[in-house]
Amino acid sequence: MTLITFGIALILLCAVLVIRTLRYTRHHGKRNRTLPADVNIDEAANRLSEAIRFETISTQSPEDFNESEFLKMHRFLEKAFPRIHEYLDKEVINNYSLLYTWKGSDPDLKPVMLTCHIDVVPVEPGTEGEWEHPPFQGAISDGYIWGRGTMDVQGGVLAIMEAVENLIESGYSPERTILLGFGHDEEIDGDKGAFTIAKVLNERGIFLEYLLDEGTPIVHNVLPELPNPVALVAVAEKGYLSLELSVSAEGGHSSVPQGLTSIAILSEAIHKLENNPVPGRINGIVKKTMEAIGPQMPFLYRIVMANLWLFRKLVKRELAQMPATKAAMSTTIATTIFESGIKENVLPTQARAIVNFRIHPNDSIESIKEHVEQTMDDPRINIREMRGSIEPSHVSDVGDSSYHTLRNTIQEVFPEVVVAPTLMVGATDARHYAGLTDNIYRFIPLRARESDLERVHGTNERLSKKNYLEMIFFYKRLILNSTTGFLNGNHSE
Ligand SMILES: [Zn+2]
Repeated sequence: MTLITFGIALILLCAVLVIRTLRYTRHHGKRNRTLPADVNIDEAANRLSEAIRFETISTQSPEDFNESEFLKMHRFLEKAFPRIHEYLDKEVINNYSLLYTWKGSDPDLKPVMLTCHIDVVPVEPGTEGEWEHPPFQGAISDGYIWGRGTMDVQGGVLAIMEAVENLIESGYSPERTILLGFGHDEEIDGDKGAFTIAKVLNERGIFLEYLLDEGTPIVHNVLPELPNPVALVAVAEKGYLSLELSVSAEGGHSSVPQGLTSIAILSEAIHKLENNPVPGRINGIVKKTMEAIGPQMPFLYRIVMANLWLFRKLVKRELAQMPATKAAMSTTIATTIFESGIKENVLPTQARAIVNFRIHPNDSIESIKEHVEQTMDDPRINIREMRGSIEPSHVSDVGDSSYHTLRNTIQEVFPEVVVAPTLMVGATDARHYAGLTDNIYRFIPLRARESDLERVHGTNERLSKKNYLEMIFFYKRLILNSTTGFLNGNHSE
């Protein structure tokens, strides 16, 4: 290549990079919004505070289940939201979960469902003293409602109830049926609550337009380069797999070892496995997340994000540096149990390990098992799938009108935020509803700074009154937008 052709090629390349970057438009999100004047936030905060006092705790041991707290919660909801209990059909499912049906006037429109859960995690014994206000007191102080469940997720349940109560009060009745589902055992897998609610709806032949469960929040300061908070909407959930790896080898006295011990064989296999994870890819959800966030980034970052065809490798390497983005990009591998040996001078005949995988929607239980076999490539190792495997969820389409309704509603209530699809690395009740719709979203309109995230399932859980008002407003607008707004034109059956 002559210097001139090289020069021309370089200029062309720069031109392509710049044009693509400029086309990557930036939205300035400082539109005005008005929070509703018809919601009395002090009264709403008092109701949430009262709900926090019921110790609807889910623990791993069934004997600790406190039935009366759940029943008291049901009675409280009846008293606190009289219009809902007058205008909606309420069903108690499997004794403690709740299903409300707000019948729409147009039976041709598919119902929309909002879900959360009424159980909470226990307070870790010994940490009670670290709470600024007792976890089940429901204190209102410094502009916050304090207590277990304010963030996860009595705040969500009550915000939905407030929104519906308020809409009924204003004389509204929906064209599209709205379902509210509140499971009672999400924190221990939802096998009794959400599972049964979904079964009941399935038996009735109900197919939903979309379902919104609790999920990822609005995260502030997510990246130092990004000034806007990001509302993360999880459009899929990772799968779950644990494999038991075991080896049998010659035993005997440790003074006369015969080749490698079972510990050595298994360690070597695990070493190979952990050093050869399933490669991550910038496709699907990760790509969509970047497409949503990219245009808001400073110019230099936008050059990179707008030109993934050129910078893909660089971006992948950067994302793989951070555990959170690495987990979003690929199936994770973690060896969680290793057992072998009984005495210091006896050669162990057995070694056993459990390796836990969180399966990315790019992969499947079968493909991971194949990967494990091929990577270890050792016939001495037995592989057994443990109980409780779950395939990764279906990925909801961000091109669907229901996603647009959700995204537009978030931007209407939180004008400064960037809405981005994401992958849920943990699990929620949403998976139980998988058969009811193609569009499942996991999002909670809760604002969380990094330091707030540890309050969820942790100490000093709290929700600001201001954010609680936004949450109520969000669910109210979402119901209105889903029943009379964007969805209706082209999406009715
Ligand atoms: Zn939760």
